[in-house]
Amino acid sequence: VAPDASLVHALRRAVADAPERTFLAYFDGRLTYRETDELSDSVAGHLAARGVARGDRVAVVLQNSPHFVLAVLGAWKAGAVVVPVNPMYKAGEVTHVLRDSEAAALICSDRAWETYLRDTAADTPVRVALTACERDFQTADDPRVLDFERLPRPADADDLTAVARARRPAPPDRAPDPGDIALISYTSGTSGTPKGATNTHANIMYNAERQRTGLALPDPPVCFALAPLFHITGMVCQFGACLNSAGTLVLAHRFEAGVVLDAFAEHRPHYTVGPSTAFMALAAHPSCTREHFASFVTISSGGAPLPPALVERFRAGFGPYIRNGYGLTECTAPCASVPPHLEAPVDPDSGTLAVGLPGPDTVVRIVDDEGREVPFGEHGEIVVSGPQVVPGYWRRPDATADTFPGGELRTGDIGFMDEQGWLYVVDRKKDMINASGFKVWPREVEDVLHTHPAVREAAVVGVPDGYRGETVKAYISLRPGTEADPAQLAAWCKERLAAYKYPRQVEILPELPKTASGKILRRELRSRTRDN
Ligand code: ATP
Repeated sequence: VAPDASLVHALRRAVADAPERTFLAYFDGRLTYRETDELSDSVAGHLAARGVARGDRVAVVLQNSPHFVLAVLGAWKAGAVVVPVNPMYKAGEVTHVLRDSEAAALICSDRAWETYLRDTAADTPVRVALTACERDFQTADDPRVLDFERLPRPADADDLTAVARARRPAPPDRAPDPGDIALISYTSGTSGTPKGATNTHANIMYNAERQRTGLALPDPPVCFALAPLFHITGMVCQFGACLNSAGTLVLAHRFEAGVVLDAFAEHRPHYTVGPSTAFMALAAHPSCTREHFASFVTISSGGAPLPPALVERFRAGFGPYIRNGYGLTECTAPCASVPPHLEAPVDPDSGTLAVGLPGPDTVVRIVDDEGREVPFGEHGEIVVSGPQVVPGYWRRPDATADTFPGGELRTGDIGFMDEQGWLYVVDRKKDMINASGFKVWPREVEDVLHTHPAVREAAVVGVPDGYRGETVKAYISLRPGTEADPAQLAAWCKERLAAYKYPRQVEILPELPKTASGKILRRELRSRTRDN
């Protein structure tokens, strides 16, 4: 069966097949497919009436709430391009995104609007604002649904909930075409100023359909949204895959381990996708038990390295096997994953866990600096082509030409492939540490640190060193109730790694800095070393 043209088409199909099925579950609130369709029609009708035209950009700055879904579907039904924005962004970061995308409309929480986004948007092309009364959820004792307590309404923005309930029809002739840009997804900025990748509806539908057919999920599935929906992993592997399968999507505002575990117990989800750091946090939570994972058919980790020791510890402690997956914003989330009924091999030489097998119609090549393919097992840059690779960056022809020569995505990641076609990610090219001329890949050292029973999170960076040029430094956070000192952790690595690789410096922190999508910010750790 050919995939639908867009998630708007998938929604129509779900409404026709199962109008009263719950699509969104959010604390005590639920929206059926029919309700979601009607409410998002009204958002679309409102945006169109306020002058948002086909192809205009609509920025959405919301947590994982029903409002997010209504905003995105409403904008697509109005023919607009959605610009998902990280709600943790500060004013300057949002300004960059609103100006760079030339957003005509902004949809955000009341609180963000009042505290900074009204002023921020004033200096940008934004001319329409919709705000949703979304509170920061700290605990499951604070459940709020679409009828939340009202904050004072800002005079110059409309209320998303009221707009959604106005029963206005969506403009009839604006359903997206597969080649239209669906999203301008700004990369998380771990490697510099965020650039907007232009994910088309066809890119999204390819990967949403891959999740449906590739994960062997029950029909209809219950998905728990562990990753933030503004990030491509959450948008495509959770929201997109769930809607494409006419399933139920459980939302819990933002990641908080205790709230997530309560939602698992209540909704009994079949699958979830999140960064490995989220699984580390769940495993470290005192109330986490095997029972919380009893309903899961599949758990996938994506968007960040997955230490093999975490996979084993998780399986032994809680039951499920965490399935690795590799992707980038520029390839609309995954381009390689571990199929059901298979387990990813671990490379015997480096101890690296494979990220997966490339999907059908996806070609992954490993190339040297001259662009020539290297033999199996040799390191090179990972380049990807396939139906999920975006056409380029928004209004950045130079960056597009550099990153997508001939339409192929140069990932900036170093990896290798074995003879069976399994792909391994060694590390980011730019994160390589040069210690006295020896190459050290932080991932390999982190994987060894993760085998230590006291280590919860580990990040390894290169720091300046008068003798070696650069030397290896590890930042660690510990599992609750365990103890280890820096010298013990360095010795653990020294026993298991070549002399030039083990960390000469180890620092223990309560928690490592992470992006909202759960990636450890090595950049921040590097500058911390410089500042000290
Ligand atoms: P920026 O491009 O601004 O630095 P970002 O790269 O963090 O942001 P994403 O597109 O979210 O933005 O991340 C993609 C990167 O995440 C990949 O290039 C790779 O380095 C890393 N990654 C994703 N999945 C895996 C995985 N399974 N194992 C190891 N690394 C992974």
